[in-house]
Amino acid sequence: RSSCSRLLVVSCISSGGLLVYAENVDNNEKIVERSRLDSKKRKKIVVLGTGWAGTSFLKDMDISSYDVEVVSPRNYFAFTPLLPSVTCGTVEARSVVEPVRNIIKKRNGEIQFWEAECLKIDPENHQIICRSTVENLVGENDFSLEYDHLVVAVGAQVNTFNTPGVVEHCHFLKEVEDAQKIRRTVIDCFEKAVLPGLSDEERRTNLHFVIVGGGPTGVEFAAELHDFVHEDLVKLYPSVKDLVKITVIQSGDHILNTFDERISCFAETKFQRDGIEVLTGCRVVRVSEHSVNMKVKSTGEYVVVPHGMVVWSTGVGTRPFVRDFMEEIGQGKRWILATDEWLRVKGCPNVYAIGDCTTVDQRKIMEDISTIFEAADMDRSGTLTIEEFQDVLEDIIIRYPQVELYLKSNHLFQVTELFKDSEGNEREEVDIEGFKLALSHVDSQMKSLPATAQVAAQQGSYLAGCFNRWEQCNANPEGPRLFGSAGRHAFRPFTYRHLGQFAPLGGSKAAAELPGDWVSMGRSTQWLWYSVYASKQVSWRTRILVVWDWTRRYIFGRDSSRI
Ligand code: FAD
Repeated sequence: RSSCSRLLVVSCISSGGLLVYAENVDNNEKIVERSRLDSKKRKKIVVLGTGWAGTSFLKDMDISSYDVEVVSPRNYFAFTPLLPSVTCGTVEARSVVEPVRNIIKKRNGEIQFWEAECLKIDPENHQIICRSTVENLVGENDFSLEYDHLVVAVGAQVNTFNTPGVVEHCHFLKEVEDAQKIRRTVIDCFEKAVLPGLSDEERRTNLHFVIVGGGPTGVEFAAELHDFVHEDLVKLYPSVKDLVKITVIQSGDHILNTFDERISCFAETKFQRDGIEVLTGCRVVRVSEHSVNMKVKSTGEYVVVPHGMVVWSTGVGTRPFVRDFMEEIGQGKRWILATDEWLRVKGCPNVYAIGDCTTVDQRKIMEDISTIFEAADMDRSGTLTIEEFQDVLEDIIIRYPQVELYLKSNHLFQVTELFKDSEGNEREEVDIEGFKLALSHVDSQMKSLPATAQVAAQQGSYLAGCFNRWEQCNANPEGPRLFGSAGRHAFRPFTYRHLGQFAPLGGSKAAAELPGDWVSMGRSTQWLWYSVYASKQVSWRTRILVVWDWTRRYIFGRDSSRI
C-alpha cells in the first residue's frame, strides 16, 4: 500500500464514469466512499422503449449528470418509414435497424440496456416491474427497477377495433418481423397460385391482396406491392400475371385523408390508373381465413371479398400496461396517456411520456366518428331515432372503448338520460351534432398531434434538452440562465415543428406536403424522398446499406426467394 503512495488514481466508478483524483492511496478508501455517495446522488432516469422517441432522447441526453437505464423488448432501433419497402425486398430488414448498443456506446458515459418489457409501472414506489424477453434464460425472468425519473416511450400497438378474425387471419405492419412475414406470405401466395390442379377462381383468390386502411402505411404498402408484382413477379410467374389484384378498403371517403386534398386525389387517380382497387366508405366487420366481410356504409349492404392475404393497417391503440397505469393515476377515461406542455404525465410527478403512447390525432378520431354517424343518417336530417342511435353508439364503442367510459362517467350511459330534453321530456330523436359536441369534450384540454416519427423524435430531443439544463436551472432559479420566453417556468413548453410529410405512391412517384402549404407530386418528389430518407438514417452504416439496397434493386430487381 505504502509503495503506492502519491499515486494518481483515475477510476471510473459505477455507471457515472466519475473521475477521482487521489493524492495519497491511504485516502483512497475515503475517496471511493465519497464517489459512491456522489454516484448515489446522481438521479436515475429509466427510459422505456428504443423507438423514435426513446432513441432521440438517448442521442441528445448529456449523461454525465445522470445514471440512465433503458428497458426495451427489442435491442435495436427500427427506421419504420422504410418498413413498407422491407415487405417487398426493396430494402433488406437489416438495413433499417441499428443496434441500441451501437447507439449508446457513442455516448460520453455509460448507459445500461436491459432487453425486457415493462409489465407494470408503480408510481407510488417509483419502480417498474419488468420481464426479460430473452429466450431460454437461465435464471429469473422478472426483475424490478427503481427510478427517480421515468421516461415512457413505448409507442402504441395495433388497433383491431375488436374486429373478429383480425388477430388470427391478418398481417400487421408495425414491426420489422411483420414486414419480413409479409414478404414471405406474398411469395407464398404466388407459389400457391401456380400449383397444378387449381381453378382460375382459386388462383385469383390466392392472388387477391387486401389492405384494410387507406392511411399512409396502407397506401405505401399497396404501392410497393404493385411495383414488386409488376416489375419483378410477373416475369417470374407469367402464367398468373393477369389474375393478381390489389384492393385497399377504407372506411372514410378518401385514402390519405390526413394529407392535403390534392395529394389524396392524386393518389386515388394514380391507383385507379395502376389497377389498384380503392373501396371507400366500407368498414370491415369480420375477417376469416379466405374472405373479408365488409359493410358498405352508403347502402348498409354486407359484401364478402375472397382474399389470399390481408394486411390490417387501420391505426394504433394504447398498450395494456399503459392503460393499467392510466387507470391507476386517474386517467382511465382518456383516449391516451395525457401530459402537460412539458411532457410530464398529468397526475404523476417524475414520469414523462413521449411519442405514440401520448400523441393522438383527435381530429382523426372525430372524423371517424362523424363518418359512422353520416353513414347512419341516410336522410341527412341531422337526427337519428333512438334505435338507430343505439346501433351507431355500439359501433363507436367497439372502435373507441373510451367513449363508453366517458358516457358512464358523465351519467349519460343510461340511455334514458341521453334521450331526455332539458325539461325532462322524452325525445323521439337524438341530435347528432349535440352528441358529437359532447364527445369532443373528452380530453378537450389535450393538444392533438399526429402519431408520427417526427413528433416522437422532436419530443425525445426536447425532453433530453430539459434534463440537460436541469442542474443549470436549479443552480440559477431566478438567474439569467432561465430560458427567456419561458415565463415563470424554467423550461419552454414543447412545441411541434411540422417539417412536412411524404407518401410514396409507387412507379417512382411520390407526393409530399411541405411546410408553408406546399404540395409536390411526381418523379422529382420521389428523388426528394430518397434524399430525405437517406439523410435521416441514424448511422452511416444504415445510410450506406439503404442506398446500396436501392441501387441493387435498380440493377438486379427484388429478390423473390422465400427465406
Ligand atoms: P416506437 O417507434 O413504436 O417505439 C416503441 C418502443 O417501445 C419500441 O422499442 C418497443 O420495443 C418498446 N416497447 C414496447 N413495449 C414495451 C414495454 N412493455 N416495455 C418497454 N419497452 C416497450 N412516421 C413518420 O413520421 N413518417 C413516416 O413515413 C412513417 N412511416 C411509418 C411506416 C410504418 C410501417 C409504421 C408502422 C409507422 C410509420 N410512422 C411514420 C409512424 C412512426 O413509426 C411512429 O410514429 C413512431 O415509431 C413512434 O415512435 P415511438 O418511439 O413513440 O414508438
